[in-house]
Amino acid sequence: MPRSQLPSSVTVREVGPRDGLQSERPVEPARRAALVDQLAAAGCRWIEAVSFVSPRAVPAMAGAAEVLGAITARDRIRVAALVPNLQGAESALAAGVDEITVTIAASATYNERNVRRSIPDTLAEIERICRLSAPAGVPVDAVVSCAFGSPYEGDIEPREVSELCDRLSGAGVAALTLADTTGMATPRVLDGVLSHTGVGVGLHLHETRGTGLLNAYAALQTGVTRFDTSVGGLGGSPFADGAAGNLSTESLVALLDDLGISTGIDLEALIEVTALVEELVGHGVPSPIALSGPRTRRTTPTVS
Ligand code: ZN
Repeated sequence: MPRSQLPSSVTVREVGPRDGLQSERPVEPARRAALVDQLAAAGCRWIEAVSFVSPRAVPAMAGAAEVLGAITARDRIRVAALVPNLQGAESALAAGVDEITVTIAASATYNERNVRRSIPDTLAEIERICRLSAPAGVPVDAVVSCAFGSPYEGDIEPREVSELCDRLSGAGVAALTLADTTGMATPRVLDGVLSHTGVGVGLHLHETRGTGLLNAYAALQTGVTRFDTSVGGLGGSPFADGAAGNLSTESLVALLDDLGISTGIDLEALIEVTALVEELVGHGVPSPIALSGPRTRRTTPTVS
């Protein structure tokens, strides 16, 4: 696709408060809500803020309803919540979320380990979640993990991914997001999968192998206009070895700013939020843009 045909705007779903913080030491709900508010102030309008999961399974995600209740920018943002099952969906709907996200893996082994269910059983549960949320007018987005390869099965046939997507649509999901859970996507693999699924999907890219931004650029050229990213590049899956590193929101926004593609997100304000994130998690973030700033930032060189 020539540059002139790149999209004029891209939608970013910020997943840092959920995907980013879930594998960190628990942060109290009020501070997680403050992070959501800061992201909203930086222009993030769609935020996966919480997960209604058992606090025993994921201690860092305890207190989801409390987080949602403490967000002051609630009316200005679309709040998504990840749910692992019907019970989680009931809690999410009771808390008034705008969107429910569910996960299912294109890899049978990963699915067993991540959600402790077979793929058919997960599909059946997602169908029940869709039936529950439909009357409330809350859309369900199915995030297909390992869509570009599995650490257990290796390559996944693009046809298998698109068949799973078809079954999810049949189960009632309103949107589909393909996740590169362990960083196995390349522009070639991405192209193969998107040629089967179409480009009306969201992408959830990881930097495990340093290819997240490269894949985002390749996907943009193919016509994808929706991405999941995490402030500071925090997060990844706690259930797959070496899966750390979501594509950072500031990396994607810096690229899109340079291409003249709007996101509504203010890059400098977002970079300031990464400083808050470092305080929250007690360590630095794996984000070159947070470290060095946008390419036009003037600094005093410290290396020759
Ligand atoms: Zn992720």
